[in-house]
Amino acid sequence: MEFLANSLLELIVQTSTNLPPDVRAAMSLAANAETPGTQSSQALDIILSNIDMAQQDEGPICQDTGMPTFIVHTPVGVNQIRIKAAIREAVAEATRLGKLRPNSVDSLTGKNSGNNLGEETPVAHFEQWEQDEIEIKLMLKGGGCENKNIQYSVPCNLDHLGRADRNLEGVRKCILHAVWQAQGQGCAPGALGVCIGSDRAHGYELAKEQLFRTLDDVNPDPTLAALEAEVMAEANQLGVGAMGFGGKSSLIGCKIGAANRLPASFFVSVAYECWAFRRLGVRLDAATGAITRWIYRDPARAVERMARGEGFPLTGREVMLTPPLTEAQMRALKVGDVVLISGEMYTGRDNVHAFLMKNAPPADLNGAALYHCGPVMLKEGDQWMVKAAGPTTSIREEPYQGDVIRRYGVRAVIGKGGMGAKTLAALQECGAVYLNGIGGAAQYYARTVEKVLGVHLMEFGIPEAMWHIRVKNFAAIVTMDAHGNSLHADVERETGDVLETLAAPRT
Ligand code: SF4
Repeated sequence: MEFLANSLLELIVQTSTNLPPDVRAAMSLAANAETPGTQSSQALDIILSNIDMAQQDEGPICQDTGMPTFIVHTPVGVNQIRIKAAIREAVAEATRLGKLRPNSVDSLTGKNSGNNLGEETPVAHFEQWEQDEIEIKLMLKGGGCENKNIQYSVPCNLDHLGRADRNLEGVRKCILHAVWQAQGQGCAPGALGVCIGSDRAHGYELAKEQLFRTLDDVNPDPTLAALEAEVMAEANQLGVGAMGFGGKSSLIGCKIGAANRLPASFFVSVAYECWAFRRLGVRLDAATGAITRWIYRDPARAVERMARGEGFPLTGREVMLTPPLTEAQMRALKVGDVVLISGEMYTGRDNVHAFLMKNAPPADLNGAALYHCGPVMLKEGDQWMVKAAGPTTSIREEPYQGDVIRRYGVRAVIGKGGMGAKTLAALQECGAVYLNGIGGAAQYYARTVEKVLGVHLMEFGIPEAMWHIRVKNFAAIVTMDAHGNSLHADVERETGDVLETLAAPRT
């Protein structure tokens, strides 16, 4: 097995940096379906450029490289213990190289292990099979979309859709509800893996397993194939759009499986996957561990460029901002404005917000732009370098954000997916804005960082530390302004109205 370690490292690097062709094709279709000039279309332009940048520079497509999940099939007689050890080594090495973000956090102490190894991480499932080769598939599914997974126990009542019964009609309602409830928080356009039946725990597992099907395959079960096609058509009428900005492309795939259930239980389990759908696989020679072929892609085929034109088209109407920001500047902004930030900003996410509730900030946040971001950082010599730096899901900071704005004078909060009523009230009261970055565009945003100026609260680990960075032309869209307007609230309401029109049973 002399090649096993290298093969696994190559699998991880390729999965993290190079989207498979079926996802690329689906994203191209999504981008072409969108109305040019809309916020969704602009978001998709950045996403397409980001996909190219990640592949060209072998950088993580998204800074959240998720919970590495390996599905391994081995011929009878192959030593699975050895493969498991090699997976752990490869994961640690890929983390050291900045291809994976250190994502393994002790749930009791909150300590990040720093190398993606820890209790039950990475996840590896082993099966024996009758074939001669080893097969290893890998999925890197980030936390933002993982948090939008949802499980329904039918019969149940659903917002805008009414009762979902124990039949295919009820299943259809649950799946549409799953798309609607995710809005932009899971970095739409997304893909769904669905399991009808099974029990709670295995149902979620089987739902995720559906995401190992290619987006363009056709379900061998005609009933499920019809349901998949119907959900795709209906979900893309909802109007969630890329990043939840409103638009035509909300879903790039829906894959449904069914499993037997207990008479008393009927679960519909949904795994929501973001557009940064990182999934690849390899076949290995069982004697040497060398890669014999790739699954999901053909390395002999040139990787096609995704970006249309120059990537993010500037219109000249962008508002230039240089922190420290003033109340007057923020009150002049309105939902829909595109801003380009140049200057200093601070990152801060879950641990930083919890810290700020009890402690003074380690840096002056008056007039600051606070970026919800857990970057991938590597130290080169004495200097920290940004390897990936897209926005994280902001709604997790909803319990704290309003107080942080009021207490410390933060003027711009940057993240993705939007925030709720408490934050909106604080923005209005203090004269501040919420800026939506493009979720998953980690390479695009990493290139806007001119320099890492410093770091505070490093004891929280790299993703959770408070990074002080200087950026140039950092693009974001005002989605919550200081006048009480929220694009997120508007889109949620409008898509809810559309959902109601889809409640009627199919003919
Ligand atoms: S694209 Fe969005 S949801 Fe997906 S891993 Fe990145 S931040 Fe999370």
